[in-house]
Amino acid sequence: MKGLLENKVCIITGGAGPRGIGKAAARLFHEHGAIVVIADLDLDKSREAAADVSSERTMGVVCDVTDKASCEAAAKAVADQYGHIDVLINNAGITQPLKTMEITPENYEQVTDVSLRGMLYMSQAVLPYMVEQKGGAIVNTSSVSAQRGGGIFGGPHYSAAKAGMLGLSKAMAREFGAHNIRVNSVTPGLIQTDITGGKLTDEMKTQILTGIPLNRLGDADDVARGFLFLASELSSYTTGAALDINGGMHMY
Ligand code: NAD
Repeated sequence: MKGLLENKVCIITGGAGPRGIGKAAARLFHEHGAIVVIADLDLDKSREAAADVSSERTMGVVCDVTDKASCEAAAKAVADQYGHIDVLINNAGITQPLKTMEITPENYEQVTDVSLRGMLYMSQAVLPYMVEQKGGAIVNTSSVSAQRGGGIFGGPHYSAAKAGMLGLSKAMAREFGAHNIRVNSVTPGLIQTDITGGKLTDEMKTQILTGIPLNRLGDADDVARGFLFLASELSSYTTGAALDINGGMHMY
């Protein structure tokens, strides 16, 4: 099945990581006919990542999702260029492998600002365009750590931020359903990207796999396919949902 996002303008935050989930989504969305916008902290890296996907129907913009004005400027640049914004993937995130008593106020703000505040600010930036055009889809990258608590690379404040995203996602789904705007989340398990890559020893992998029924770690394409489902009309009657993409991990 191809062309699921034909001519849809899709903004992916945190999409510049070369092995990241956002970049995999950018590739898949582009294959499905989308105009893909990578919105990340560094303009050159965003542009490079976009050009790496394709020289056509791609754009890189600078966007710090923790800064409301930066989100608004990025959304405006996209709308000025293409005239509409159809899909937003709130995917920017950072991890800090800390325990509860180690978290400083700065740590708390850094992690919750990117995932949770960033989701709010970026959604606020695109929603006026989606409301005006009477439709859109927002997909939020939460995490299995929202459901299980903790994780190897996250930390309690990361779990809290990712759980907060699920609540915000449901609240926005209720508020904007009447505007034909769907808001959903994915909750990935352990996915091999730059956040996790190179940091897992063989011993850690063996131990982790005992808790994953599908007996493998995830890859970025596994998550990208979930984004595609939730961003496209394949999920036309789904809103306020969270799609687990974790090999069965959170059943334990
Ligand atoms: P990644 O490091 O490739 O992606 C994170 C991206 O977010 C980076 O490109 C980074 O530059 C960007 N970013 C950080 N702060 C930002 C800001 N203020 N504004 C805009 N962009 C910012 O790693 P990834 O694993 O692809 O992570 C993507 C998302 O998936 C994150 O939200 C992460 O928490 C989530 N996630 C990852 C895993 C995993 O195992 N890799 C599991 C569950 C959820």
